[in-house]
Amino acid sequence: MIPRLDTSRSVSAANSNFFKHLASVGFEGDTGTGVSERTVYSTDNSIYQVAPAGVLFPKNIDDLKRIAKALAKPEFSTVTIAPRGGGTGTNGQSLTDGIVVDCSRHMNRIIEIDPERRTARVEAGVVKDQLNKALEPYGLFFAPELSTSNRATIGGMIATDACGQGSCLYGKTSNHVRALRAVLTDGTDFLSRPVREEELRALQARRDRIGDIHRTLARISTDDREQIEAVFPKLNRFMTGYDLAHLQREDGLFDLNAVLCGSEGTLAMIAEAELALLPIPACAALITIRYDNFNAALEDARTLVALNAASVETIDETVLQLAKGDNAWPRIAAFFPDDADGPANGINIVEVLADTAGDLAEKLAVVSAALQGTLFAGRKGFSTVHGKADIDAVWTMRKRAVGLLGNVDGPIRPVPFVEDTAVPPEHLAAYIREFRALLDGEGLTYGMFGHVDAGVLHVRPALDLTRADHAALMRRISDAVVALTQKYGGVLWGEHGKGVRSEHVPSFFGPLYPRLQEIKQAFDPLNQLNPGKIVAPAGSALPKIDEIPLRGSLDRILGNDIRAAFDNTAYCNGNGACFDFDADGLMCPSYKATRDRRFSPKGRASLMREWLRRLAEKGVDPRREAERLRRTSTVSGLARRVWNSLNPANHDDFSHEVRAAMDTCLACKACAGQCPVKVSVPAFRSKFLELYYARYLRPLKDPVVAAIEPLLPLMARTRPLYNLVVGSTIGRTAMRFTGLTALPALPAPSLRRSVAIATPEVLARLSAQERDETVIFVPDAFTEHFDPQVLSAAIDIAVLLGFRPFLAPSLNNGKALHVLGYLRAFEKVADRTARQLDRMADTGIALVGIDPPMTLAYRSEYAALRLRARVLLPQEWLTHVIDRLPAPAPVRAPPLYRLMAHCTERSNAPAAVSQWGTVFAKLGIAFSAVDVGCCGMAGMFGHEVQNRVLSENLYAMSWQPALASAGTEEVIMATGYSCRSQVKLMSQRHIPHPLQVIRTHLQAQAAAIGETRHV
Ligand SMILES: Cc1cc2nc3c(=O)[nH]c(=O)nc-3n(C[C@H](O)[C@H](O)[C@H](O)COP(=O)(O)OP(=O)(O)OC[C@H]3O[C@@H](n4cnc5c(N)ncnc54)[C@H](O)[C@@H]3O)c2cc1C
Ligand code: SF4
Ligand code: SF4
Repeated sequence: MIPRLDTSRSVSAANSNFFKHLASVGFEGDTGTGVSERTVYSTDNSIYQVAPAGVLFPKNIDDLKRIAKALAKPEFSTVTIAPRGGGTGTNGQSLTDGIVVDCSRHMNRIIEIDPERRTARVEAGVVKDQLNKALEPYGLFFAPELSTSNRATIGGMIATDACGQGSCLYGKTSNHVRALRAVLTDGTDFLSRPVREEELRALQARRDRIGDIHRTLARISTDDREQIEAVFPKLNRFMTGYDLAHLQREDGLFDLNAVLCGSEGTLAMIAEAELALLPIPACAALITIRYDNFNAALEDARTLVALNAASVETIDETVLQLAKGDNAWPRIAAFFPDDADGPANGINIVEVLADTAGDLAEKLAVVSAALQGTLFAGRKGFSTVHGKADIDAVWTMRKRAVGLLGNVDGPIRPVPFVEDTAVPPEHLAAYIREFRALLDGEGLTYGMFGHVDAGVLHVRPALDLTRADHAALMRRISDAVVALTQKYGGVLWGEHGKGVRSEHVPSFFGPLYPRLQEIKQAFDPLNQLNPGKIVAPAGSALPKIDEIPLRGSLDRILGNDIRAAFDNTAYCNGNGACFDFDADGLMCPSYKATRDRRFSPKGRASLMREWLRRLAEKGVDPRREAERLRRTSTVSGLARRVWNSLNPANHDDFSHEVRAAMDTCLACKACAGQCPVKVSVPAFRSKFLELYYARYLRPLKDPVVAAIEPLLPLMARTRPLYNLVVGSTIGRTAMRFTGLTALPALPAPSLRRSVAIATPEVLARLSAQERDETVIFVPDAFTEHFDPQVLSAAIDIAVLLGFRPFLAPSLNNGKALHVLGYLRAFEKVADRTARQLDRMADTGIALVGIDPPMTLAYRSEYAALRLRARVLLPQEWLTHVIDRLPAPAPVRAPPLYRLMAHCTERSNAPAAVSQWGTVFAKLGIAFSAVDVGCCGMAGMFGHEVQNRVLSENLYAMSWQPALASAGTEEVIMATGYSCRSQVKLMSQRHIPHPLQVIRTHLQAQAAAIGETRHV
C-alpha cells in the first residue's frame, strides 16, 4: 500500500500573512496556497523548478493595486512577487520562490476594439489568438507572431517583447504597443504612453514614484546617448529588457514603454494594454523549398530574403523527420514531397503577402522565377501553398517544431538554454556552422529551425539534466554560445527574453549595466518584483544559470525506469500546448472549462511527477506496489481502506490533491494524441487510481460503472425494468445517490438475433473468396445495446455493398475499467477480448468497430497486450473498400452534411475526419467538418453527478453554439454515441451518425436503380 504523503510546507510568516492581509482588504480574486498549486506553478518551459510560496489570481486591476499596496507596507518588505501569464517562458522568467500573480485566469477580457482607430484595449491575461479571433470580423489583427500564440498572453508578450515569424515585416510586440496601464509597487496606477517634451518635463517634476522614474530615464537617455548607441546592436531583434535605444523615439516622443516592454515583470505589473492593429493581408501564399542539406537552406536564405518576402523560415532535417511522424503531417505532406533523388534534409518556407490576387500572383512569379532561374547547389524542388486552411496547417506544423523536438524516447531530451540566439542575418550561415561544430564536438544531438530573415536560430541540444555531467555541459555550452554570439555581433536572447540567463546581462550591457540598476531602483526600490531577473540591485549579483534548482536535480531520484514507466509524465516540458484557449480546440476540455491549470495535462503531469518523487523519497516503487496489489485479494484490504478513509490523520495526504486533479479529467485522450511530448494523462491516471484506491475507499459510483458493461446483456433482457429506473423520479434519485445521473434509456430492439455471429466454427467454414466478401462488426456492449440503430446502419451498408456481415461474439471492451483504474480487472477482460479478436483477425476478415473511443481503445489501452488484430473505424473500412461504393448520384440540392467528429478520434486518428470526407465525396454528398471541442459527455464522465455541471459548461462552450448556428440546409452528424446523447439531453435534438446518412443514401440510390430497371 502506498504511504501517506505529507503536505506540510514551509512558507515564511511574511508570505502567509500577506495572503491573510489581502483577504482582509477585499482581494476579489482566488488564492492558491496548497501543495498542488505550488507544484504546478513551480515550472514553466525552462529547465528550472522553483516552488512559489503561493499563487494569486487577481480578478481585476483593483486586485493588482491591492497586491501592490500590500507590498509597500513595511511588514511585507521581504515579500516578492512574479507576474505570470501563460507560463510559456523558456528561461524561468515567471518562476519565483515568492508569490506568483497569475493574470491569465480572470484578467482576460477584451475591453474595447476600435476599428476606426485600429486599436484594441485588452487586459493582460488575454491570449494572443483569442484577440485575433475577436478581431477577425473587423479584418484586423495584432501582428507580432509567436509559436505559443494559442496560450501566451498579451501581458507575457509585452513583458518579453515577443515576436517570431514575420518580425522583419511586423517587428516586435513593443512596436505595436500604444499605451500600458501599469501598477507600480507603491500601488500607483499609471497609464504609460509616449509623451512630448513638455509632458515629460511635467512628469519629471512630480515628487512621487512616477517623477523618480521619469527623471532617471530622461537623464540616462540624454547622458548615456553615446554608450547606448555603441552598446545596443542594430538588429531586427534589438536588445530587449530595458531597451534604452528606443526610449527617445525618432519622432521626438519619449516612450517609457520601451523599458516596460521586455522588462519581464521586474518593473511593474501590466494590467491593460492599448495595442495597434493592422489590416489582415488580403492574399497570402507560401513557397516551401526543399534542400539536400540544412547548410544549403541557410546559404540560400539570403537570396530569398532579397526577394522581399514577408518572412523566411527554416527547418533542419531533424525537425523535418519529427514533423513527418506527427499527427499533423498527413494534412500537409503534399507540400513537402520527396524528390526523385530522395527526401529533403532542410526546408525553407517563404511567405508572400499581397493586397490583391493579381499582386500575389506577380510576387509569386518573381519568387518562382528566381528559384527556377538561379541554379543553387543543394536546392531541390519547391511547392506552393494557397488557401488559408493549408497555409495555417503549414504554420501550425512549424509552430509545433519545439514541441516535436521533445517527442523522443529515452531520458536525453532537447532542453532550452541557448535556444533563441540572434545574429545579423548575413552572418547566420557562418555562425550556425560554428554552433553546430560546438555541439557536434560535444557529441550532442539537436534539431534546428528558425527565422532566417531575422538571423534567429532555435536550437535545443539534447541533454539529461538528471546527470551531473550533462548539467556541467549546459554551463560549458552556454558560455561558448555567449562568446559566439558576441563574436558575430548578436545577442543571446533574440526572442524569448532573459529569465535565468540574466547572468549574462552585465557582459552584454557592459558600461550600461549600472544604468539598468538605477532604473530598477527607481521603479522597484525594494527589489520586490521578480528579483533575480534582468538586473540585481547595486552591490549584489544576479544568480548564475547553474545556481537555480534544475528540474533534473529533482527528477534524479526517480531514475530512468520510473520515468519511462509513467507515460511521459516526467517528460512534460511545460511548453503549454495543452493550455489552448480555443473552445473549439481539442486540448484540454477540463482546463478550458475551469481555467485551473491543475486541471490540465501539464497540471496533472506535474502533480503525478511530484507524487512519484515523494514516493521515491520514501523508497516506494509504485510498479512493485501495483504488482503486490494484483497478487492480493481485493476484499482483504477492505478493513484497511475503511480505516484509512476514516482516520483524520489521513485527511492531509498529497495523494488527495493528485486525485482531485485526476477527477476532473474526461479521459478524452486529446493530450495523448495532441501533446507534442505525448503525455498521456488517461494512461498514468489509471495507474495512480489503482494505487490510490488500494489505500482509500472508492466512491460508490465506481463499482456501479464498472459493472455496467458485463451486466448490459442482462439489463437488455430486463429492459422495461431498467428503463423504469432511469425514467422515474425515484429511480433517478436512487441513481443520484450512487453518484450517477442523466442515464439514457435502453432502446429496442437488440440486433443480435438477426445477424450471424462470427464464431470460430462459422468462420472456419468460409472459403478464401468468401472471406474477402465478409466483414465482422465488433460493437462494444454499449453500442450494441444503447446504439443499435447505428450498428444496424453499418450492417445494412455492408449488405448494400455486397458484403456478408457478421457480428463478433459478445465482447467486453473494458475501457470503463481502465478509466477507473481497475487495472487488474481490465487486464483480465482485455486479455480475453484480445485473444478473441486475434482469432477473428487471423482469418483475414476485416474487423470493424463502431464507437470511436471504444474502437481506438484496441490501439491504446490494449497496446501492452500486443494485440495483432486491427479493429478499423467505420470510415477506415469504407475508404479501404471505396471501390465498392457506387458512383455519385447526380448532384442534388443541399442539404450539406456537416460532421462533428468525436474528439478522441480527431486527436488520436488524424485521418479520421478526412476519411469520412473521402467516403462522402465518392457518394457525391456535400460534406464538411465542424471543428468543435469536447461535448462534455466523454463516456460516463458526464453521467457522474460530480461532473455534470462541468459537462454542461463544456457543452455550452463549443457544441451548443455550433449546433445553434447551423443553417436550415445543414444536417449535423456526430460519430460519438456520447456526443449524440449529450446533444439529445442538452438541445433536445436527434442527430444522425454518418453511417445512418450513408445507408439512407445507398438505399435511395438502390431504389432509384431498381425503379429505372423496372421502367
Ligand atoms: C514552444 C515554445 C515556443 C515559443 N516560441 C516563441 C516565439 O515564437 N516567439 C517568442 O517571442 N517567444 C516564444 N516563446 C516564449 C514565450 O512563449 C514568450 O516569451 C511569451 O511571450 C510568454 O508569454 P506568457 O503569457 O506565457 O508569459 P509568462 O511565461 O507567464 O511570463 C513571461 C514573463 O512575462 C512576465 N509577465 C507576464 N504577465 C505579466 C504582467 N501582466 N505584467 C508584468 N509582467 C508580466 C512574467 O513575469 C515573465 O517574466 C516560446 C515558448 C515555447 C514554450
Ligand atoms: S502536457 Fe504536453 S502539451 Fe502540456 S505542457 Fe506538458 S508537454 Fe506541453
Ligand atoms: S484526457 Fe482530456 S481532459 Fe484529461 S488531461 Fe487529457 S486532454 Fe485533458
